[in-house]
Amino acid sequence: MRAAYLTGHGGNEVVCVGPRPRPVRAPGEVLVRMRAATLNRVDLYMRDSGAGITHRLPQIMGIDGAGTVEEADADEPLLQVGQRVLLHPGISCGRCEFCARGEGVLCGTVSYLGEHRDGTLAQYVSLPARNVFPMPEGFSFEEAAALGVNHLTAWRMLFSKARLQPWETVLIFGIGGGVSLAALQLAKWAGAHAIVTSRDDAKLERALAMGADQAINGAREDVAKAVLKLTGGRGVDVVIENVGAAVWGSAMRAVVRGGRIVTCGATSGDQPPADLRRIFIRQLNILGSTLGDLHEMNALLRACAGGAIRPVIDSSWTLDELPAALDRLEAGAQFGKVAVRLE
Ligand SMILES: [Zn+2]
Repeated sequence: MRAAYLTGHGGNEVVCVGPRPRPVRAPGEVLVRMRAATLNRVDLYMRDSGAGITHRLPQIMGIDGAGTVEEADADEPLLQVGQRVLLHPGISCGRCEFCARGEGVLCGTVSYLGEHRDGTLAQYVSLPARNVFPMPEGFSFEEAAALGVNHLTAWRMLFSKARLQPWETVLIFGIGGGVSLAALQLAKWAGAHAIVTSRDDAKLERALAMGADQAINGAREDVAKAVLKLTGGRGVDVVIENVGAAVWGSAMRAVVRGGRIVTCGATSGDQPPADLRRIFIRQLNILGSTLGDLHEMNALLRACAGGAIRPVIDSSWTLDELPAALDRLEAGAQFGKVAVRLE
C-alpha cells in the first residue's frame, strides 16, 4: 500500500511517500481503508525530533483519519464492511486503573497512531474496533478526520476539564489553529460567550463570521487589558490555550478570580514563569489536557449529528503533496485543518 512515512528526523527530506506493507488485521481489530487525514502540530514534532515519544523508524505519519471499513470480525456488532468511519487515535490497555474509570488517555501504555505506531497517512490502518466510530451524516472524509484529534481535544478541554457553562465567557488564543477553531465552534454550540485572539486581522474577521463574539489582535493590543475592558474589569471564566509561553502571562491576567485556564500545547515554549502568588491568591485553576477519551468521542459525535458543528478545512492535498502541506501547517498561515486525501 502507499503511505507517507518518516525515515529519520529533520526537515521534509525525511518524509517519504511510497510503498509500505499493508497491515494484517488481528482479531478484535477493524481494517480501515483510509480516505482522508488532517495534519496536526504533532506530525511536525515527530518529523523534527519525536523526542520523548517511543517510536521506531520507518514509521507511517498521521494521527487522525477517516475512511471505510474494509474488514472486521464476523461477529462485529456495531460496524459493517463499507461503513464510513473515523478513528480515535489512542490505543490503550483497557484494563488499568485509568482505563477502568474511562480515562484511557491517562493509560500508562497508551499508544497513539502516528506517534508510537504507524499512523493514518496510509491506504490502510488496522486498529481495535473500539477506536473506530461511525462518521456523522453528511460529513466529508476530511471533515470527519478532523474531529478525531482537534475537536475531541477541544471537547475535553471545555466540557470535561473547564466544565464550561452557557452563561460563561471563554477566551480562545490563536484562532485559526485547529484546536482553537474547534473550541470556538463548541463554545458557541454550548451557548457561551467567546472572545478570540490572533495576530492576523483576516483570521479574526473569519472567526467573527463564524460566531465569535469579540476579537482581539494580539499584535496591536495587550490581550489581557483588552479582555478586562471587554468584560467590565472582571476577566473571563475560562481560557483555552495551546500557544504556550508567548501568551501564558496574558492568560493568567485575563482570567477571573477562581477561573480556569486549560492548556493542551506549548508551540511557543513550555517554560513560562509560574507566577505562583497569582495562582494561589486569585485561586486560579490550571488544567492540563491532552486529546479525549472514547466516551468523549461518543458525546462529540452525538453533538455533531445536530449539524451545528463542522470542522473548517483550510486546504486539501494529495499524499504526494504532503511536504507542501506540512510547510503550510508549519508557516501557521492556515485557517482550519490542512487535509490530505488518500485515494
Ligand atoms: Zn490502561
